[in-house]
Amino acid sequence: MQIKKANYIISSPDYQKCPVPDKPEYAFIGRSNVGKSSLINMLCGNDKLAKTSASPGKTQMINHFGIESTVGNETDRKPELFNWYLVDLPGYGFAKVSISSRRRWEQMIENYLRKRENLTMVFVLIDSRHSPQKIDIEFLLQLKNWQVPFCLVFTKSDKENQRIVSKNVKDFLDAMRKSWQFLPQHFVTSAVKKTGRTKILSYINEVNTELLKRER
Ligand code: GDP
Repeated sequence: MQIKKANYIISSPDYQKCPVPDKPEYAFIGRSNVGKSSLINMLCGNDKLAKTSASPGKTQMINHFGIESTVGNETDRKPELFNWYLVDLPGYGFAKVSISSRRRWEQMIENYLRKRENLTMVFVLIDSRHSPQKIDIEFLLQLKNWQVPFCLVFTKSDKENQRIVSKNVKDFLDAMRKSWQFLPQHFVTSAVKKTGRTKILSYINEVNTELLKRER
């Protein structure tokens, strides 16, 4: 899949103020500093699209980007174009936020995830340098509880020895087996090396292709 255009649209304080839900929407979320902005920029091929945060935890908004990409068979010489939303959600687990702003975050995120009708998939980012963290598993358990479809992206894989990355990924998936019968799709990425870009974009293309078929 090729990204033809990627534009910032709007930042919304709650799901009701988000753009009209007329296109499929893929949301990205994870712990503050997990590498979300870098991943979004890497996927869209634009280093300036999402801000790589100088002050993590400060951007408490639902950020919409409009994407125009190719859809369908990757080998088509004249591929059709398809529009979708990419959403940058504020991260969790930042220690220095007040209880009231954490509550606000929780309410905003829960409402968005449960009520946004065009939400197609949530990409949950996990730092591949660390062993499984309770805060990530707890967030995933909430998604499970709310029946929100998600997949996993293990970020910053260039920063650690590949054996350790593989072990962390395996340990994380093993930890999930306690609560999940089927494991989600997962990707290992590096924004620096652009690892995982093609796989994530192909996956989004597959879903978009299916949605387009159903539309017709
Ligand atoms: P966010 O707070 O989740 O949006 O995280 P950022 O994208 O701002 O990244 C946090 C820090 O990690 C920044 O200093 C990035 O340059 C760095 N970073 C993000 N992704 C990668 C990666 O894949 N490899 C390396 N080496 N550094 C990364």
